[in-house]
Amino acid sequence: MDHDLLIIGGGINGCAIAREASLLGLRVMLVDKGDLAGETSSKSTKLIHGGLRYLEYYDFRLVAEALHERERLLKAAPHLIHGLEFVLPHEHAVRPWWMVRAGLYLYDLLGGKSSLPRSRGLRARDTAFTAPLKGGDRGFVYWDAFVDDARLTLANALDAAANGAAIDTYYALDHAERIDGGWRATLADGRIVTARALVNAAGPWVHQMLGRLGVTTKSNVRLVKGSHIVVPRLYDGDHAYILQQPDRRIVFAIPYQHGFTEIGTTDIPVDQPEDAVIADDEIAYLCEAVNRHFVRQIAPADVTSSWSGVRPLYDDGAANAASVTRDYVLELDADGAPLLSIFGGKITTARHLAEDAMEKLCPAIGVAPHPVTPARVFPGGAIADFDQFVASVRATWPFLGDARAARMAHAYGTELAEMLDGIADEAAMGRDFGAGLSEIELRWMRDREWATCAADALDRRSKLGLRLTDDQRAAVERWFAR
Ligand SMILES: Cc1cc2nc3c(=O)[nH]c(=O)nc-3n(C[C@H](O)[C@H](O)[C@H](O)COP(=O)(O)OP(=O)(O)OC[C@H]3O[C@@H](n4cnc5c(N)ncnc54)[C@H](O)[C@@H]3O)c2cc1C
Repeated sequence: MDHDLLIIGGGINGCAIAREASLLGLRVMLVDKGDLAGETSSKSTKLIHGGLRYLEYYDFRLVAEALHERERLLKAAPHLIHGLEFVLPHEHAVRPWWMVRAGLYLYDLLGGKSSLPRSRGLRARDTAFTAPLKGGDRGFVYWDAFVDDARLTLANALDAAANGAAIDTYYALDHAERIDGGWRATLADGRIVTARALVNAAGPWVHQMLGRLGVTTKSNVRLVKGSHIVVPRLYDGDHAYILQQPDRRIVFAIPYQHGFTEIGTTDIPVDQPEDAVIADDEIAYLCEAVNRHFVRQIAPADVTSSWSGVRPLYDDGAANAASVTRDYVLELDADGAPLLSIFGGKITTARHLAEDAMEKLCPAIGVAPHPVTPARVFPGGAIADFDQFVASVRATWPFLGDARAARMAHAYGTELAEMLDGIADEAAMGRDFGAGLSEIELRWMRDREWATCAADALDRRSKLGLRLTDDQRAAVERWFAR
């Protein structure tokens, strides 16, 4: 067999499993039909959180587990993840004060010993929090964390590759069949790959993939679309808002990429993964959701960008989309060569999911699993004090300027030292593609991070697509084509 494990899907779950398995010494190959994090894992709300909302569904175990992962991730990837302060304005008609207070108390409790501050009530001096709001100064303040979801997925793949995993993007798995002692898989380009076990981490395509593998299952996924809009910065400050809506849903407003606000999300059942396209009524819903709370009003014309993803949720039979469990289910089919299928999950809990996946799968291939990632730092993440790190980046490469130094410090962490090794001035950065994107950085994304086109580099790895003109974007596309 060429490999011990063939993983289908380079979203957060596939990449986290590749990392975990390669650290256990398994020979791993991961294939994705597109880019790493090209689907759901770059289209999330970008929160590393316990999910305050899930308390209403009594999902205490999921919340506690996710909050513990939050603490781990804050330490393991301080360049990609940072604490985020949330303001929760009080809406008595939606949820009474005591209920929210009790929920936040429980959230703090389930989080255990956390490096983030505990929740509190809004105070008279919190004018920076209340000034942008239309009504009242009652409410709460609590903390969760923000993540660059696409780069966290990439960081998992980088760590896996550093431990020997082969990562192949833009190669779909066409079909596979069980053979003596493993699986024989055919990729879309006709290549044949053999492996002792298969992991189906195809996210929203998990069920379709089972069909292609000729495997039947009673489990199903509920595909639930969620969309976000981005508008020019709605308010000053680094804090976010969690806004209760009359339909009891919550909508987040979160500072995004210096100068923008991200607003989301919706919860709409869909039939196909390909239905992940934002609809006009979703844009209208999200605009109304913030207009209900903010002094500054927005309209669909203010939307500068948007994204839409499909949650591949495990179908637990819940009546409505918002209440379907966000927990994951791992299904092992060991009727012959092992096949592990992943249903559901969250960006926040992917490491934990990968650990569970190995516990389930390893005995089937005669390997003894043990925890290898609880305290493992991601590539670029060995940073004790992030502010000090940014200051050192500014001092070492002063020509970057403050904004670019901060952006690149966040994106690459300590890997920046290698990317900019020997670079003494702007001229040495090579061609300037606009918005601070240089040829040196593009080359790094191409040679080290599997970027193959403008969308990979601009929309997922750097998010500079928000700032480049169409002509500048076309120049990046031509550079990759060459
Ligand atoms: C709107 C929204 C908001 C969310 N917000 C949060 C949040 O704030 N915090 C949080 O923790 N979680 C959040 N989530 C959940 C989280 O984003 C998902 O659970 C997670 O990204 C799923 O990852 P995945 O790897 O299972 O799927 P995906 O990221 O979709 O990866 C599956 C991959 O499989 C590949 N694939 C499919 N078929 C094939 C094939 N035949 N061959 C090869 N590859 C194939 C696809 O190309 C894809 O890249 C959110 C989800 C959504 C939709």
